[in-house]
Amino acid sequence: MAVQTVATSTDTPSVDLGPAAALSCRECGHRVPLGPVFACEECFGPLEIAYDFSGYDTEELRKRIEAGPANIWRYAPLLPVPADVAGKPNLNPGWTKLVQADHLAAELGVDAGRLFVKDDSGNPTHSFKDRVVAQALEAARAFGFTTLSCSSTGNLAGAVGAAAARAGLRSCVFIPHDLEQGKVVMAAIYGGELVGIEGNYDDVNRFCSELIGDPAGEGWGFVNVNLRPYYAEGSKTLAYEICEQLGWRLPDQIVVPIASGSQLTKVDKGLRELIALGLVEDKPYKIFGAQAEGCSPVSTAFKAGHDVVRPQKPDTIAKSLAIGNPADGPYVLDIARRTGGAVEDVTDAQIVDAIKLLARTEGIFAETAGGVTVGVTKKLIEAGVLDPAKTTVVLNTGDGLKTLDAVAGTGLTATIRPTLDSFREAGLAS
Ligand SMILES: *Cc1c(COP(=O)(O)O)cnc(C)c1O
Ligand SMILES: [Zn+2]
Repeated sequence: MAVQTVATSTDTPSVDLGPAAALSCRECGHRVPLGPVFACEECFGPLEIAYDFSGYDTEELRKRIEAGPANIWRYAPLLPVPADVAGKPNLNPGWTKLVQADHLAAELGVDAGRLFVKDDSGNPTHSFKDRVVAQALEAARAFGFTTLSCSSTGNLAGAVGAAAARAGLRSCVFIPHDLEQGKVVMAAIYGGELVGIEGNYDDVNRFCSELIGDPAGEGWGFVNVNLRPYYAEGSKTLAYEICEQLGWRLPDQIVVPIASGSQLTKVDKGLRELIALGLVEDKPYKIFGAQAEGCSPVSTAFKAGHDVVRPQKPDTIAKSLAIGNPADGPYVLDIARRTGGAVEDVTDAQIVDAIKLLARTEGIFAETAGGVTVGVTKKLIEAGVLDPAKTTVVLNTGDGLKTLDAVAGTGLTATIRPTLDSFREAGLAS
């Protein structure tokens, strides 16, 4: 199948993906049939999924979701997937823990019972990326792609490799050549092809865009490029789960990490859908974006009051968030401003402190991206921007075992001889 980079209304194959009705341009609203396309033929704006939810009864939908499986497919009626999705091999991610973080709340000065960590390290490949890849995989099947691919800052490569292995497809993924060892191993272990590109993520992404237009990439589904509209919808399931786990209530404040900004925009979309469907009450919520200072194009624009995001050259330990030219940056700015939230950044040292704080208070070992959200949460509370009396959810999107280097030096309290005397001498007796 020839892969198009620009949608045309005439030659896009038509597929049945549940209530997903069309692709709609986020800039000009132009609509095209569902297909493996991602840019508007009129204005080159990004395409996203438009739904027809008009047939849904709120109470029936709530019951259907609650009776569904303990994974993202409980929300299949709200996702762009074929009706028989549950029967095919898929890693079935999601339904991760929402942890009430009272010890962390006490340290941060948040009221007891008000602070929660949505811990997405519990997904099959230990990051939130399994959610988005699961969607892209179903779209790839629907469009007849036989190779799964992506440009990745690390976690996505592992998620694509694992999903392809499970589905019996070929995978060939592209990463910057200098990623953390844990991420390289995670991406390679599933047996697909893993290619290191001499350059940063933005170079990798540019290369993939070229490959899509070339016969060398024919029949390839790039989960975050030509399948991006489908991929992106997977992040909505974070919003759905958070609200359902809070007893079908909206949080007041939610802190989301930003790489390309896709996750943040879709968490917002998911919350708006739940309100529109009557599954939660219609009340205001605030979305806060979190970046590392060493790659902070969106927070820099937010603080300067700009509408455009100026690209940066990333230099931070938070490599999973190191996208210097974030595709959804302007939309993130819109959402933070519309909801009354903010975008903030923290230094690498603050990221490390926050990883240790979360581990010590709640027993959750986050990767650097989790250090970014927890660090930004702390900073925003201290600045009086986040309200400590309101229900707040902080996302941890990945597992600390993948970024062990960030906390190198954490280790033994003491080394002793195997005797009680030696133990007492070390000052550890009760
Ligand atoms: C990819 C990723 C994100 C968010 O990515 P977006 O491109 O903004 O959707 C957040 N955390 C981790 C750990 C990731 O790997
Ligand atoms: Zn358009």
